[in-house]
Amino acid sequence: MEENKHRIAIVNIEKCKPKRCKQECKKSCPVNKTEKICIDVMPTSTIVDISEILCVGCGLCVKKCPFQAIKIVNIPKNMEKLTTHRFGKNAFKLHRLPTPRPGQILGLVGINGIGKSTALLILGNKLKPNLGNYREPPEWEQVLKYFKGSELQNYLTKMLELTYRPAIKPQYVDSIPKNAKGKVGEYILKKDTLGLSEKLKFDLELNKLYERNID
Ligand code: SF4
Ligand code: SF4
Repeated sequence: MEENKHRIAIVNIEKCKPKRCKQECKKSCPVNKTEKICIDVMPTSTIVDISEILCVGCGLCVKKCPFQAIKIVNIPKNMEKLTTHRFGKNAFKLHRLPTPRPGQILGLVGINGIGKSTALLILGNKLKPNLGNYREPPEWEQVLKYFKGSELQNYLTKMLELTYRPAIKPQYVDSIPKNAKGKVGEYILKKDTLGLSEKLKFDLELNKLYERNID
């Protein structure tokens, strides 16, 4: 076991089907063979439970699962202190957080499942980070204390005080008509809290679209 490494075990809820497999993950785990319970699952379980403390990161369970339900990620041990959010046991975990700065453009680039959307939800005030403590999520006060002295503390404080009002562009633009009705121009005017719509209408050549129905 590499002492300077820590493991994250992620189980895909959709894929893990203990009632339809032979619990190959548990049978292959070398830690379970030493009588410890690293992988806990029964044919009647709804999902497998993996102990990240006991796991040695061999990856055998990943290979043996017939439904590719497990991911084991080795990370440096000191990353553990840098957890920004975890959705639950054996669920996705985000480390650190990008820092938006006034007057600058921040780009987030990365493969699917790397945490871009989770980071945006936090920075967009749609998700309170739990710092990895999904059982007893901290209050904002503790979260701000955790980020004390960083630019993120300033950003998050202003976001909570509503000095900063983050806006997130919808990812699925084809779903916009489900929530927004009426003419494009009327809708933009309704949302224009900064009084910029007239200028942007010309700058972005939107005038042709103003009379169209959103759908
Ligand atoms: S992780 Fe795979 S092998 Fe293990 S219980 Fe779930 S489906 Fe079965
Ligand atoms: S990766 Fe961890 S949980 Fe999976 S078989 Fe190896 S020790 Fe067990």
